[in-house]
Amino acid sequence: MLSVDSDTYILWREDNKEPFIFAGIGNAEEVEDITPVKIIWTFETEIFPDEISPSTTFREGTVCKVSVNAYERNPVVRQKCIEHYGATCYVCCFNFGKVFGELGEGFIHIHHLRPLSEIGEEYEVNPVEDLRPVCPNCHAMIHRRSPPLTIEEIKALLLKSAANYSAT
Ligand SMILES: [Zn+2]
Ligand SMILES: [Zn+2]
Repeated sequence: MLSVDSDTYILWREDNKEPFIFAGIGNAEEVEDITPVKIIWTFETEIFPDEISPSTTFREGTVCKVSVNAYERNPVVRQKCIEHYGATCYVCCFNFGKVFGELGEGFIHIHHLRPLSEIGEEYEVNPVEDLRPVCPNCHAMIHRRSPPLTIEEIKALLLKSAANYSAT
């Protein structure tokens, strides 16, 4: 699990009482042999956290402390982004809490705007400038092309189809 260049399921929680949050499939980039062990994780896969089947099992206790470096899955920056923008899709305004009530409350994907190729090693994500909350539909469409569509491009497509829709 501490070997560099191997995929590991990363789970994260604030303290021992909180349930684990799945952060993604991480790659240990840097391991510091201190107590608790410090690991810098990188996340390269385009897997959304909710795409992982609930039947996937994780061994509890394998991760002591992690410095998560997952722009779209980091729970801390995620939370800050949602606090700023709300859990409403930045593209189509869909809000899971409004539609599904309690069940959907707070559910949203987070999209990272900056292409990974433009990011230097010293990069620290800014939850307000670099991230936007998006619904899974819009998020999937954004990532259907590589490089991903910009927010403006995906919004323009949506507006165009909405205009066609109302015209017919
Ligand atoms: Zn949307
Ligand atoms: Zn994204």
